[in-house]
Amino acid sequence: MATLLTDASRRLERAAQYVPISDDATERLKFPKASLKVAIPVRMDDGSLRVFEGYRVRYDDTRGPTKGGIRFHPGVSLDEVQSLAFWMTFKCAAVNLPFGGAKGGITLNPKALSRLELERLSRGYINAIAPFIGPDLDVPAPDMYTNPMIMGWMMDQYSIINGRRSPAVITGKPVSMGGSRGRDTATGRGAFFVIQAMMAQLGKSPEAMTVAVQGFGNAGSVVARQLFEAGYKVVAVSDSKGGVYNAGGLHIPDIQQFKQTHHAMKDVYCKDTVCNVASHDTLTNEDILALDVDILIPAALENQITAQNAASVQARYIFEVANGPVTADADEILDKKGVSVFPDILVNAGGVMVSHFEWVQNRSGLYWTLEKVDSELRSRITQEAAVIWQIANSKAVSFRTAAYIHALSRIGEALNDRGTRDYYLQ
Ligand code: GLU
Repeated sequence: MATLLTDASRRLERAAQYVPISDDATERLKFPKASLKVAIPVRMDDGSLRVFEGYRVRYDDTRGPTKGGIRFHPGVSLDEVQSLAFWMTFKCAAVNLPFGGAKGGITLNPKALSRLELERLSRGYINAIAPFIGPDLDVPAPDMYTNPMIMGWMMDQYSIINGRRSPAVITGKPVSMGGSRGRDTATGRGAFFVIQAMMAQLGKSPEAMTVAVQGFGNAGSVVARQLFEAGYKVVAVSDSKGGVYNAGGLHIPDIQQFKQTHHAMKDVYCKDTVCNVASHDTLTNEDILALDVDILIPAALENQITAQNAASVQARYIFEVANGPVTADADEILDKKGVSVFPDILVNAGGVMVSHFEWVQNRSGLYWTLEKVDSELRSRITQEAAVIWQIANSKAVSFRTAAYIHALSRIGEALNDRGTRDYYLQ
């Protein structure tokens, strides 16, 4: 069976056809530079000992220290972490950050742990990976089911181990501990800027566009809210337990508020005030992918649109806010159907872009206003989106291949400048 990483390398091979990069460099990029697997013993609240397994993968550091989040999820495996680290390498290059790619994770259901158990686990993970990370080596950040509180514990633990405060070792921290303003909403905000830029290129007005969003977490809920406020008609949203649909459009701020109190989307439609705002139909997390909408936004997990269900997609545009929600096989089917897929490595890059701003602020000791963060994010991501749009059109390739061409050109240039066999033969 194809692993996630081999699926990811197919994107690399496709892009390599268009980029002047040596075969040696392409071959090198099919393998992560270093993968660490650790055991993390944790004393549980009842006095028993549980050992968790965790990973940190540094994929490629040609363009700078490696960068990428830490995920706490029952599905975390070495293959998944390696693929996510591969994506981070291309994401950082696609939006021109001075970073390579990395990823980490612990295999667990974080909701089953108490807060103190979670803190001991987070600090234990840093004890295990401390020599593998550092402000100039590898800089973690939040990912699925990790948050600023956890980043704060991790930074603190790293600083204790090294006997000096090192805020730049981790991004996505609480603002009180050196976090950047705007980091919490950056992924959704960046995705919104990309959608706006692409809709402008396509000559589409927000009011004419219906939208469905799968996933209502840190990224999905923010992008749904931004689109709602800009006049798009968001007709469906879902979380892992189910979703809601209204052909006339949903009131996203109410749903956000509702979810904060009740924690589950499926309860939205017939409790308290929300059902008074508009009536809703329910649908599953899978149904949402086949809705007849203009824009589909998978903002949950990877591997949601596959060879099995790609044919049932009715949307005209897909914006990947999650990492890897569309498989390489599904890409081919969607391409034939004329569906444009705007790839994760551009669409969700806002998170790591503001992580970069945080790292810069930590190293300079000078902190930015929210307005500065937001305007830097907007101008940089919009600029990269415009280049990717132009590559896709001039080379007649998909937006995904265009984004990989753009990223691979930058990585390839750095690899060549560092010295390859070709270089010595000249
Ligand atoms: N986990 C996020 C991502 O997948 C952010 C990574 C970062 O900020 O380093 O892009």
